[in-house]
Amino acid sequence: YAAKQAGERHRRYSPDLDVQAAEEARTGAELRTALDEGQFHLVYQPVVSLPDHRMVAVEALVRWDHPVRGTVAPADFLPVAERSGLIIELGDWILRTACAQAAGWLRTLGAAAPGRLHVNVSDRQLADPGFPALVAATLAETRLPADHLTLEVSETALIHGGEAVRALDDLRALGVPVALDDFGTGHSSLGLLQAVPVDVIKVDKSFIASITRTGRHAVIATALLQVSDGLGLAAVAEGVETAEQAAELHRIGYRFAQGHLFGEPSAEPRFHGTGVVAGTGVATVS
Ligand code: C2E
Ligand code: MG
Ligand code: MG
Ligand code: MG
Repeated sequence: YAAKQAGERHRRYSPDLDVQAAEEARTGAELRTALDEGQFHLVYQPVVSLPDHRMVAVEALVRWDHPVRGTVAPADFLPVAERSGLIIELGDWILRTACAQAAGWLRTLGAAAPGRLHVNVSDRQLADPGFPALVAATLAETRLPADHLTLEVSETALIHGGEAVRALDDLRALGVPVALDDFGTGHSSLGLLQAVPVDVIKVDKSFIASITRTGRHAVIATALLQVSDGLGLAAVAEGVETAEQAAELHRIGYRFAQGHLFGEPSAEPRFHGTGVVAGTGVATVS
């Protein structure tokens, strides 16, 4: 503890930290402007079934079209938005925009529409007591059926219990399924599954990346699938990049996957008549 205090004291006077704080303030102000001026857009990445690579869902991912820096990835601005509180308003925009888009696909594409819509929810949004009511209002306003939406939440949002876990109950009462994102990277992943009501786990790409190397590397991906099966949850493998990984996941028993192999996030995903994703070595019908 003493060492930590000394560390903080050092940090307080570090010129690097001043630069960082100034940078944070500048990005925070720019994000406010960005929201007011419509500099954000959403891209959508397919989630597919195995082994047929049929699109069962798309995940909405936010991008910032910065006037000077070009496209900025979420990792480079969401933490700032989270700390400044702007994430509440930005998250509201993301949810509304994605739900309106998905409802539009349903209307114009019918059975060829890309299945469910996954939307990421930040820890701070989930902890906001008004969040479930906001979701209900957004579904009503955009006329997207509740069971067409899945909300992706992080393990860290739930470890303290309280408001966030109550929010999950409220969301599921609305008929909106909940997915635990990046599953396995938190501090109490398995304990959490016992305590919180979720419908889907998204097995983090760190467990998928090496599954084809040796049997040893597939052990955790296999165990997480067994746990999710046992609890009646669906498991999605994240970050699948090679055909070998997809084949191994199918052999282990995974039924859902996502990753660059099946489709990059894009503003206008090419939806095929059968919902089968192009470019994965599986015959497609346009
Ligand atoms: P995530 O929700 O786990 O999303 C998956 C991330 O992995 C995305 O990065 C996606 O582009 C990337 N990815 C997809 N397939 C592959 C693959 O095969 N290999 C590799 N290496 N990466 C792949 P992205 O878009 O940069 O988003 C990063 C994170 O930022 C997301 O992780 C999510 O936590 C957060 N995020 C993105 N969009 C939103 C949003 O609209 N709202 C909130 N609250 N968070 C968001
Ligand atoms: Mg996600
Ligand atoms: Mg994820
Ligand atoms: Mg992940």
